[in-house]
Amino acid sequence: MLESLRRIVQEVNNAPDLEQALTIIVRRVKQAVGADVCSVYLNDLDNRRHVLHASEGLRGKVVGRVRLEFGRGLIGLVSERAEPINLDDAATHPRYENVIDTKEDRYHGFLGAPIIQNRKVLGVLVLRQRQRRHFDEDEVTFVMTLASQLAGAITFARTSGELARLQEDGLPQRFLPGLAASPGIGIGQAVVVYPPADLDAVPDRRAENTETEELDFQQAVNAVLADLERFATRTQKLLSSEDMALFDAWRMMLEGDTLIDGTLARIRAGNWAPGALRETISEHVKVFDSMEDAYLRERASDIRDLGRCVLMHLQNLTAAPIQYAAQTILVGEEISAMQIADVPRDKLVGIVSTTGSGSSHVGILARGMGIPAAMGVADLPVGRAEGREMVVDGYRGRVYVAPGPAVRAEYQRLAEDDAVLTSELQALRHLPAETTDGYALPLFLNTGLVSESRPLGIEESAGVGLYRTELPFIVRDSFPGESAQMSNYRHVLELFAPRPVTIRTLDIGGDKPLPYFPMHEANPFLGWRGIRITLDHPEIFLTQVRAILRASIGLDNLQILIPMISTVGEVDDALLLIHRAHDELLEEGYQVKMPPVGVMIEVPAAVYQAEALARRVDFLSVGTNDLTQYLLAVDRNNPHVAKLYDEFHPAILRALLQIITGARVHGREVSVCGEMAGDPLATFLLLGMGVHSLSMGAGSLLRVKRVIRSISRARAREVLKIALQCEDSGSIRRLLLDALEDVGLGALVRPGK
Ligand code: PEP
Ligand code: MG
Repeated sequence: MLESLRRIVQEVNNAPDLEQALTIIVRRVKQAVGADVCSVYLNDLDNRRHVLHASEGLRGKVVGRVRLEFGRGLIGLVSERAEPINLDDAATHPRYENVIDTKEDRYHGFLGAPIIQNRKVLGVLVLRQRQRRHFDEDEVTFVMTLASQLAGAITFARTSGELARLQEDGLPQRFLPGLAASPGIGIGQAVVVYPPADLDAVPDRRAENTETEELDFQQAVNAVLADLERFATRTQKLLSSEDMALFDAWRMMLEGDTLIDGTLARIRAGNWAPGALRETISEHVKVFDSMEDAYLRERASDIRDLGRCVLMHLQNLTAAPIQYAAQTILVGEEISAMQIADVPRDKLVGIVSTTGSGSSHVGILARGMGIPAAMGVADLPVGRAEGREMVVDGYRGRVYVAPGPAVRAEYQRLAEDDAVLTSELQALRHLPAETTDGYALPLFLNTGLVSESRPLGIEESAGVGLYRTELPFIVRDSFPGESAQMSNYRHVLELFAPRPVTIRTLDIGGDKPLPYFPMHEANPFLGWRGIRITLDHPEIFLTQVRAILRASIGLDNLQILIPMISTVGEVDDALLLIHRAHDELLEEGYQVKMPPVGVMIEVPAAVYQAEALARRVDFLSVGTNDLTQYLLAVDRNNPHVAKLYDEFHPAILRALLQIITGARVHGREVSVCGEMAGDPLATFLLLGMGVHSLSMGAGSLLRVKRVIRSISRARAREVLKIALQCEDSGSIRRLLLDALEDVGLGALVRPGK
C-alpha cells in the first residue's frame, strides 16, 4: 500500500489540472482499497453545498449533478466534524440520506475522509462498499494521506479560476497566500526557472587524478566569477551601488577561504571535484539552515546557489537561453540573484518564490530593484505555472493565477497608485524624520552582514542602530582574531561616521551555532545564548570588545550593545570586562575613548528590571523579536504558531511602556530595534510612548519616515491611549490601520490609494 501511495501521490502531483488529479485519485484509490465506489465531493463555500466532482464506480452521469446542501447526509457530517467517519453499515446511521442519483441504498460500507488545508475543509473523499465493510486502520490512513495531497491541487484550482469554471457559477477569485517580501503590484506572465544543477544528486567518487580535479574546480570557480562580473556590468545601470553589494557578497564568498579551501582539501583527500564541492557546500548550508535568526538562515540559499553555479561549470552545462515575456513574473522554488539578473530589467515586473522569506537575498534584491515580490508561496505548483497570467501583490504576499477581468482591472488601478507612491517616497530621502509638531524621531539602520560591503539605506539613515556581529564568526572555520574582527567593525564605523554605529556583542546561541563550537541543547531558545556564552568565555568577549574599541579610534561614533540580558549581574560582569579591555588598550598606548554602552531588553525579566538596568548603562534598546517570542511563549521561527506571534499583543505594549518608564527614572534613552520598529502601523504607538529612536531594515526607512512626517506627536499619544484600552491585538491593528488611513497613508501597508 505504501508503494501505491507513493505512485498515486506522484501521479496527482504531475496532473496538469484538478479534473485530472481527481480522476486519478478516484480511479487509483478504488483499485488500491478494493472498494466498489470512490468519489470526491468539493465544498462550494459560496453556495453552501457539496458538489460531486469525480467518481469511479457509479453508473450514469452523476458528476457535477449531485449537489448536497451543507449539513446534509454523511458527507455533510464528515465535513462538519473535519474527521474521518468509518461505518460498517451507513444505512443505519441517523445522518444517512438516500440520494437518488447515486443509488446510495445499494451501499453499506462507508469511509469518508475530509480534505483539509489550513484548518478549512475543502471537500470529502468517500469510499463505498455494497457489502458491509469496516475499513481497517491502514486503509483509513491511506485515504487520509491522499485527501491531504488533494488539498494543494484544490487550492490551486480555486485560485486559478479552474474550479469556478468547473462549477460554472463564477466564484469570487481566490489567491495563493505567501509572505510579503517586496511591496508593489506586478501583473504579467509566469516564466518558471529551475535550479541550474542538482548538487544533491552528485555522488562521491574517487578522484583519478587529484591535480586535474583541482584544476577543473579552479576553472569552474573562475568561470562563475566571470559570470558574476558580466551580470554585475549588466545590472550596474539599474541598481544603486548599495544594491550592487549583493554581487560583491557572492564574489567574496567565492574568493574567501572556506568554500575554496574546504573543497580543495576534500579533493586532496581523494574525492572528485563535484563530490568535494557537494560536501563542502552541504556542511556550510547545514550550519546556516539550523540558525534561529531567519535572516542568517536565508544565507544558506546563497551558498546553495553558488554551489550549483560552480557545479554547472564543472559539468560543462550551459543553460539554454530563456525566452522572457514582455512582462515577466519570475517564478521558481528557489530563485537565485543570478536568475533575477538574467532577466532584462524592463521585462521583469514581479518575483514569486515557493520558498524563502522577505529576509532572503532575493527579497533584499527585489526591494533594492523595486520589484514586487511574494516569497514562501508554498501552495503554488511551479510545474503548472509556466506561461500563466499572474498578479503579484507584494504588500500582502498574495499571488493570483489567471486573474479574472475584475481582479485584473482592480490590480491595474492599484499598480498605477503604487507608481505614484514610490516616486513620492523617494522625495523624502534627505528630509528629517520629524513630526508635524516638530518632534524628531531619528531612524537608524539594522545591518551586520559580512556580505553587505555597502548596506542599503546608508544615505537616508541617522546611523546604525543595530549591527549584528554573528556572521563574521559563523562563516569561518575558527574564531576570528582581534585584527580580523577589527577590520570588519572599522569598515562599518567609517562608512557611517560621524553618525553613531551601535555594535552588538556576539549573540550566538544553541540555534545559531558556530561550526567549530558545538553545543547540543534540548531547549536552545532557553539555553546558552548571547551574553550567557560570552560571559562564560571571557576570552571571546574580551577579544571582540578590544577589536570593537580599537576599530573606533579616531572616529568616536561607537556605541556597544549587549544582548540577551536577564539579570543585573550579567550587566555588571559585562561592564567590568568592557572597562578591563578599555584599560588594557590605554596601557598599550591606544587612544581609545570609552563608548556609551547599552543593553538589549528582549527577555521579560529585563522588562521588570528596566530601571535597575538603566541605572547601570547609557541606553536601552528593545529587541521586540525576542521579546515577543519570550513574552507570548511563541517560537519566532515556528510556522505552526506563526499566527500567535503578534507584536501588537496588548502585553507587548505594556512591556514597552514599562521599559520606557524604567529608563526615564535615570534619564536614559530607549530605542526599538526589532522588526516592530519598521512597521508603519507601529509608528503611532512607539512615537506616542516616547521611544527616542527606531532602528530597522533599509526597506522600511522611507515608509516609516513618511508616517512620522504626516502625524503629530499629540495624535500619536491619542492613538496610543485608545490602543491601551484594547484587549486583543486584532482591535489594536484595526485601530492603527484606521489611524493610518485617516492621514491618507493606508497605502503604506496595503495596496491602493
Ligand atoms: C530582537 O530580538 O528583536 C533583535 C533585534 O535581535 P535578533 O533579531 O538579532 O535576535
Ligand atoms: Mg534578539
